[in-house]
Amino acid sequence: MHPFVYDQPAARVIFGVGSLDRLAEEVKRLGARRAIVLSTPDQRSDAEEAARRLGDMAAAIFAEAVMHVPIETARAARDVAKQLDADCYVAIGGGSTIGLGKAIALETGMPIIAVPTTFAGSEMTPIYGLTEGGIKKTGRDRRVLPRTVLYDPTLTLTLPARIAGPSGMNAIAHCVEGLYAQDASPIMTLLAAEGIRALSCSLPIVVKEPKNLEARSDALYGAWLAGTVLGNVGMAIHHKLCHTLGGTFNLPHAETHTVVLPHAMEFNREAAADAMRIAADALGVRDTAQGLYDLAQRLGGPLALKDIGMPADGLDRAARLATENPYYNPRPVEYAGVRQLLENAFHGKRPA
Ligand code: NAD
Repeated sequence: MHPFVYDQPAARVIFGVGSLDRLAEEVKRLGARRAIVLSTPDQRSDAEEAARRLGDMAAAIFAEAVMHVPIETARAARDVAKQLDADCYVAIGGGSTIGLGKAIALETGMPIIAVPTTFAGSEMTPIYGLTEGGIKKTGRDRRVLPRTVLYDPTLTLTLPARIAGPSGMNAIAHCVEGLYAQDASPIMTLLAAEGIRALSCSLPIVVKEPKNLEARSDALYGAWLAGTVLGNVGMAIHHKLCHTLGGTFNLPHAETHTVVLPHAMEFNREAAADAMRIAADALGVRDTAQGLYDLAQRLGGPLALKDIGMPADGLDRAARLATENPYYNPRPVEYAGVRQLLENAFHGKRPA
């Protein structure tokens, strides 16, 4: 048994089909009276559903959430709350909308209720990201952690296969890196293994049978576990590479995770043998790297960085950036190995 610290930043979680109906009750439970509902422009109808549940307690809908959380958007949402005398936010959507809620909470300390509609897991973490003057900043602060999270699988029914698959692979990535985290703990290992199991069993059904609510519930359950792992332990080379690729080459977030994950597992295969065995058991396969590649393929990909906007002449730079600042990874992160990992991911080669 390794020594560990377990310091759980607790959020109240309400899980189940129809849990959105409990929104008004949960706002009152926080001692709040008037909520601003946040969403992307695409998900205005979800925001309207939430506002309908809130009745008189809905102060306004602010459907302007976009990727990367521009600080201006967070400030505009904060001003709306001031004008309307609102005292809490409901963020309904994926990581981008919940990220907007977090940026507002960071500045104002106002409580956030998160209603996730993808599998990204941001709702369970104290990690925030925001863009100011074209530069994306990230950090950890417990103030940004939503106070209450309502997981209603019904809301994921509209998530198309092309978003659901990568979003689920993003969640699996939190779990597998949690297994070999420097600050791994026995509880997080249990959650991570169960998250991998729940997601890998349900996602192929989610993308094939869009109306299968049971599979969507299982995937959302896995996403909750995955988000909890991400919020509690540090990530390693896989997440570092995805942030580098996303930030430098503007590659799409969940798709980048989907492509890179099998190759990061191949990179760490020997150095994190125990974690690989737990992940392989949870996936029901012999080899984690190959199993994740096959899963990504079953979900419809993407499988290659070249297919999601990565320029071939950017691979050297990406490898340099990813190896510049030393950080924890079970295998030392050196240029040649990372360059090879990126080459394999660029072409979408199945791990050997
Ligand atoms: P997203 O929030 O950007 O959503 C992608 C698109 O899908 C949006 O247009 C959204 O409106 C739409 N969408 C979401 N749910 C839908 C549904 N049920 N039906 C129909 N359309 C729906 O995507 P994401 O993958 O959830 O989040 C990615 C962002 O979250 C990234 O910026 C990433 O950095 C961040 N993130 C942060 C953390 C954290 O802990 N801070 C964790 C994971 C991801």
